[in-house]
Amino acid sequence: MAGIYLHIPFCKQACTYCNFHFSTSLKLKDEVLNAMMQELELQKNYLENQPVETIYLGGGTPSLLSSDEINRIYDVIQKHYRIDAIKEFTLETNPDDLTPAYIKSLRNTLVDRFSIGVQSFRDSDLKYMNRAHNAQEADYAIKTAQDAGFTNLTIDLIYGTPGLSDNDWKHNLSKIKELQLPHFSAYALTVEEGTVLHSNIAKKRTTPVDPEQSAHQFEILMEQAELMGYEHYEISNLAIKNHYAVHNTNYWRGKPYLGIGPSAHSFNSKSRRWNIANNALYTKAILADHKLSYEEETLTDTQRLNEYIMTSLRTMWGCDLNKIAAEWGTEYVDTMKKQAEEFLDKRWVIQNEHYLLLTNSGKLFADRIAGELFID
Ligand code: SF4
Repeated sequence: MAGIYLHIPFCKQACTYCNFHFSTSLKLKDEVLNAMMQELELQKNYLENQPVETIYLGGGTPSLLSSDEINRIYDVIQKHYRIDAIKEFTLETNPDDLTPAYIKSLRNTLVDRFSIGVQSFRDSDLKYMNRAHNAQEADYAIKTAQDAGFTNLTIDLIYGTPGLSDNDWKHNLSKIKELQLPHFSAYALTVEEGTVLHSNIAKKRTTPVDPEQSAHQFEILMEQAELMGYEHYEISNLAIKNHYAVHNTNYWRGKPYLGIGPSAHSFNSKSRRWNIANNALYTKAILADHKLSYEEETLTDTQRLNEYIMTSLRTMWGCDLNKIAAEWGTEYVDTMKKQAEEFLDKRWVIQNEHYLLLTNSGKLFADRIAGELFID
């Protein structure tokens, strides 16, 4: 089983914190889409004819595509890949794009899940992030999608924003339950180098992000999610039982995926590839030169193991020591267990049968713990 991710590298305006690849000029949109459809054909052997379980239109802002453009992409996928086992077709959307007319037009596509970039139900947070929508539009977009029959919805929320009090954060979380959403993702606001937010903070033009506030609001997230009946099935993802995101869960389980479009990543168990992150060069390579432009890294056994440790520990299913023994060797399990002793003593990690799992206290230090368990 495999997944296909398509990166739509265009946005109406730039959010201050964003470090994804996108352009706010739509001039090359048609060319990039044509190139992506050709890339789908050029890459048709990458997944070695494995059935495609999920299609994910991410970005950027895929809700800038019309339903006709989505259908054209789907037709090319259908022509070159095995899609008889398809389980999920997700469209990332921004609330301001989800007008009743657009949602209605999406009923003519096979999209069956929206991931909506809400980020906050407070206008002051949205202004701080320079989002293109306001809180009322987000609320309206969700209800309109549900009324049109799209119930498999997830939204993104951001915490740790300067000015977001703990009560404000609880209010944002309460909207999940009120709107009866089966799934949501919650991310701490991070300040990446090269972003407008980074530069604004450096120039003292805006309030910096406080890591203690983020850590405390992560704890609130865990408490409130439990009270509302959502499973914290991955560090940043929460869902009602059995409503887990299939596409993302497959990433964490190490299943192969093909990434199409500028900057998109692909993984086939043995190596990783990433396409050139430049719309004009990506388009030229495919449309003029009829070739792909990517870099590739072959993964060593140790890299594969460390990736497994990192991703599995972040999920509620945990890191399977029996799997490590079978695929990499029992000596690695012994080393890991030794390295885990400190965290087992602190109750940041527990061992349940042959699984290592993070506790709620451990989830606050997930990256550090995984790093300490890595095999050299
Ligand atoms: S809409 Fe998404 S991809 Fe575009 S700038 Fe904002 S966060 Fe980045």
